[in-house]
Amino acid sequence: MEKRVLITTPYREKGERYEYWSSNVDRKITYTYDKNNSNGLRFLKKNIPQIDILEWSSWNEYKKALNEEDYDVVGFSFFTYEWPRTKKMVKEAKRQGVPEVWAGNYGALTYGVEEYFDRSFIGYSEQEVAEALGKEIDKIEHPMIVDYIGITGGIRGFPLGILFTTRGCSQGCEFCQTPKFCSEPYKLSLSSIEKVLRKYNKAGIDEILVEDESFGLYPKHTDKVISLLEKYDMNWYAMTRVDILSKNLDEWHERGFVGVHLGVESLHQDSLDDIGKNIDVRETLDLLNRLEEKNSFVIGYYMIGFEEDTVDSIKKSIKKLKKYSIDLIQLCVMTPFPKTPLWHDIKEKYGIIENDWSKWNTKHLVWNHPKISQKEMRDVLGWGFKKAYTHLKFLKSPTKHYFRRKERYGHVRTTSKMIKDFIISNLGADVDIRS
Ligand code: SF4
Repeated sequence: MEKRVLITTPYREKGERYEYWSSNVDRKITYTYDKNNSNGLRFLKKNIPQIDILEWSSWNEYKKALNEEDYDVVGFSFFTYEWPRTKKMVKEAKRQGVPEVWAGNYGALTYGVEEYFDRSFIGYSEQEVAEALGKEIDKIEHPMIVDYIGITGGIRGFPLGILFTTRGCSQGCEFCQTPKFCSEPYKLSLSSIEKVLRKYNKAGIDEILVEDESFGLYPKHTDKVISLLEKYDMNWYAMTRVDILSKNLDEWHERGFVGVHLGVESLHQDSLDDIGKNIDVRETLDLLNRLEEKNSFVIGYYMIGFEEDTVDSIKKSIKKLKKYSIDLIQLCVMTPFPKTPLWHDIKEKYGIIENDWSKWNTKHLVWNHPKISQKEMRDVLGWGFKKAYTHLKFLKSPTKHYFRRKERYGHVRTTSKMIKDFIISNLGADVDIRS
């Protein structure tokens, strides 16, 4: 008999949400990007339809799910900062007699969690999970995953189709867990990419966010993926590295690229060299200027709290950074995540001072910084949230969107397109998770 399997994310408290903008800015009105889909769970469900998935349910919904089904296995997909809630869920599963519990996602790399689980899956694990259930997956199929961009107050503007074209990264930046999670990058098949693009196109979605760790890793594959994006007339955003984008920006811009999630990390070359990021600050700044000329939307990850940082130096960097046309600066406190080279380095030199894993979300100082206290870091982060996101930025993003779409189509959005986007985004025309 087939095993009954539930894979779940951590629960959420009533009214709680993970919204990307408000996690990084302190303004009354901002754009919104709620994350209500778990990419990993959608991939698992698409490729192993027999499993049940639960995405950010309430605590009671989770208990009810355990109660109503006799699951043989409950798997937990979580990040390090979600471990305290996950631990509570694991205990509940055991209390209700679930015979086997599994750990997955980056949280499985957290020190000390292994003892709570019967099995841990490190990396993208459709194949391993299928094998554990006596199945085989011939080729990974890409599910539809749709997120929505909106504005404070709950109005959604347009849908965004999520796309993965490769997985993993072997670059070895010292702060990053990806090389431990998936050290051997690989490509997703073009046929599954085309299938999902066709579905997005059919659903009226023409904005795609490529969430590869580093889009552009394989030039030939990238070229073929972009040809598919062109075939379905998509506007696309990509998560990628400075050096890759710098080399390809002009061509990609001609082929539908509209924006980027970029790891700026630091404006100080020494800091970048220390963390093994292997990029040149001058190249980053030049790239930011070129992106502005092209009206490209930019989310820039910026790390604060390097060893040599002080509160003043952080403030100076943020003031400098804010002069560039970055639509959203995601400020992250340098965090030595488990199993990274940075963990060992920081632990040995300064010591870890935060035992509460829920604070390991890059918005808290978790180690004994030589020049900044935890309170000072909280304050400077709050200062940065306000300072880095000005009203001008709020107004500039739609202007970029306007000019970019006008350049491509001669208009921004036809009235019928706007109505369609509104219906898809707000009136429940959601996408079936098995599609
Ligand atoms: S930060 Fe980006 S480039 Fe560096 S190892 Fe991680 S995924 Fe790779």
